[in-house]
Amino acid sequence: MLLYDSHTDSPSQIIRLRNMGIDNPLAQQDFPKMRRGGVSGSFFALYTPASYTPDQATRYALEMISAVYDAADENPDYAALAFSPSEAQEHLKQGIMSLFIGMENAAPIQESLSLLRSFYRLGVSYITLTHNGDNAVADSAAEGTRWGGLSPFGRSVVKEMNSLGMMVDLSHASDATFWDCIRWSKAPIICSHSCCRALCGHRRNLTDEMLQVLGEKDGYVGINFYPAFLSDDFGKTPSDAALLDEADAVEARFIEEPWNPVRVRAWHQMQERLQKEIWLPGVEAVADHIDHAVKMAGIEHVGIGTDYDGITVAPKGLEDISKIGALFDELRRRGYDNESLERISGRNLMEVFQRVINCSESA
Ligand SMILES: [Zn+2]
Repeated sequence: MLLYDSHTDSPSQIIRLRNMGIDNPLAQQDFPKMRRGGVSGSFFALYTPASYTPDQATRYALEMISAVYDAADENPDYAALAFSPSEAQEHLKQGIMSLFIGMENAAPIQESLSLLRSFYRLGVSYITLTHNGDNAVADSAAEGTRWGGLSPFGRSVVKEMNSLGMMVDLSHASDATFWDCIRWSKAPIICSHSCCRALCGHRRNLTDEMLQVLGEKDGYVGINFYPAFLSDDFGKTPSDAALLDEADAVEARFIEEPWNPVRVRAWHQMQERLQKEIWLPGVEAVADHIDHAVKMAGIEHVGIGTDYDGITVAPKGLEDISKIGALFDELRRRGYDNESLERISGRNLMEVFQRVINCSESA
């Protein structure tokens, strides 16, 4: 079975000195775990915090690109960079995994279409227009006050991405940004790591109307594994909420000094505590969101965007990418046939990627 994941945050972890070539205890993702999970390819997202200045964001994104190239170069038996579905096909024949590059938060392109083109040439295949902050391109779900959707510059970004064959990714975008992109994009739209608002009320989950239009416009949604997007019950008891706050503080200290063994150990201990102490949804919750998205968008438009390495804690039974088979077992139990499973596990993602490239060539 092919398995392509539309969103993971491993570049942030590589920058924090994660060696992708070894099986790291408590890591949600590294190359050995990806191989054990049967991964064919994965989008490695260049996430930049909304708090960075434009120049800091650009510099940090370039450093992460370098880190991803280095991780591939150091592990040629595991993986290589891929810029298109056809390159991914070649890697399958060679028995190695494909690393695609996505950008999460358009801040690194600043207000420059030439920076956008430079990142495209370095291999960036999609841009998640915002993270949890409005930026020069568009409004986010977390704020949503600066432009009322796409900015005037954002419209020219979408147009340029259409003509380059880059995917426009609307996970984290405000509802108004979503509808603006549906209106302005000539190519299908993706939401690389989003869940369904009908099942969990988080503001950045997709409404039924959004899921329907993604299907109608030949787009794609990758279901996210983060418990806060899967279930309204996550983190709600006072003790769970307090532990999550503590986890944020421990992680912030680890990010400041990833070389400091004391801080690394504290982060690892916190990972263990979270997995043991907090209430977590299970595999069924992820399957519920897939079921609902399939009902709304159609079987050809749903996949997985795990968000591994970017989430504080993962669902029970899906603690890391090596365990992803449990999700497909659950879907099989629910009656999905082989073709449907193959679509959800990766074919839909490769097909939408190809459709976006085709759109750029026919323009
Ligand atoms: Zn994200």
